[in-house]
Amino acid sequence: IARSGEIIEREERVLPKAVAIKYFPMAIERGRGSLVWDADGNRYIDFLTSAAVYNVGHGHPAVVEAVREQVGKLQNYTIVYFYNDRPVRLAERLIETTPGTFAKKAAFAFSGSDGVDGAIRAARSFTGRRQVLCFKNAYHGMTTISLSVTAIVGREIRERVCPDRNVVFLEYPDPYRNSWGIDGYGDPEALTEAAMKEVEEALARHRGDVAALLIEPAQGDGGMIFPPRPFMRRLREVTEREGVVFIDEEVQTGMGRSGRWWAIEHDDVVPDLIVSAKALGGGLPISAIVGRADILDDLPSPLLAYTHTGHAVSCAAAEATLSVIRDEKLTEKAEEKGRRLADWFRRRAERFPFIGDIRQRGLLMGVEIVSDREKKSPDKAMALKISWAAWERGLLLITFGRDGNVLRLAPPLNISEELFLEALDRLEGALDDASS
Ligand code: PMP
Repeated sequence: IARSGEIIEREERVLPKAVAIKYFPMAIERGRGSLVWDADGNRYIDFLTSAAVYNVGHGHPAVVEAVREQVGKLQNYTIVYFYNDRPVRLAERLIETTPGTFAKKAAFAFSGSDGVDGAIRAARSFTGRRQVLCFKNAYHGMTTISLSVTAIVGREIRERVCPDRNVVFLEYPDPYRNSWGIDGYGDPEALTEAAMKEVEEALARHRGDVAALLIEPAQGDGGMIFPPRPFMRRLREVTEREGVVFIDEEVQTGMGRSGRWWAIEHDDVVPDLIVSAKALGGGLPISAIVGRADILDDLPSPLLAYTHTGHAVSCAAAEATLSVIRDEKLTEKAEEKGRRLADWFRRRAERFPFIGDIRQRGLLMGVEIVSDREKKSPDKAMALKISWAAWERGLLLITFGRDGNVLRLAPPLNISEELFLEALDRLEGALDDASS
């Protein structure tokens, strides 16, 4: 890792530590399909995909070609002042893929963070209310508004850099481990009731002043947590009743990863707004807020105008990405590979007692590592040991979750059968290494 080592030293001199949460001493230089190579030429199977970005794999020919063509023609000319077909086409495509038959529009920016910001701004403007209901253990971003709703960052630092009193944090109903002591797998209704009680209390406390409810249909960075089935539908009912804008935050869960275009489709819920980013650009930066035209149109000009909004090259990449997901049937592939990966872990659970909980929908997947299955005690050290062993064996995966003890498994949705089996082989070796 000679070249990596040199790059690391230079990064530490010129980039602030706040840009990073590093796991391995490695600089990445090249990617192709489900593989990446580090600066020293070592090859890895990518089960992280740059944080759930490469749903279609690295350098997909269709994405590369679309980018090349657009870049050669026009990099971008701001749509703040002129018209351009690129973002219009992408908006049309996104409107088609998202649930809801009402009039929809789409607004673009660059990151999940600013997508969340824009959605909350639109909801506050539309309702004339201030409060946002969101969830503990959620990650929504690092811009000002999105940071104010990101519970995973400590309250103290959040308050220091962006004090916002108009945010209410509720408990996200985690079936495996929750403060109510309910076994959510055994009794999803009881867990839903407990969580809904908090929602109703917050609505009553701020009656007439709740602008939006912001929720990840599965908490990603929080450790891949799937709420009990009835929860999202119940949220839809109360938000409708109270005139609260339902913002479905699909920055991590969307774009086919869950086995549907949008994870919320598993719950048959139609949100008012969907926020997408990460995988949307197929590797280029772009975010989108897609949903009710009346809400998005309520914001006066220029409140969603950024110089590079709807950037032509990012839009070209995004449109190609949507086509690849559709044409290569990647939602079905995510279903199939995800099911097998979860089954694989279930079989391994007999041999490896530290496998505490296996959570999966499509290729949204997390495996909780514990030191005691009965007590469900998080074992961050063991989770790190496994991911480190995997890295040494040429498989990239990291840990996440509130307690840092959940293995995050997010390969490209179109990973080949050969590489999938090779990855399982390496994973097996890593579990063996870690437990020996
Ligand atoms: N929302 C979710 C659910 C995310 O996982 C992330 C990124 N981890 C964000 C928002 C923020 O996206 P970005 O880093 O692109 O600003």
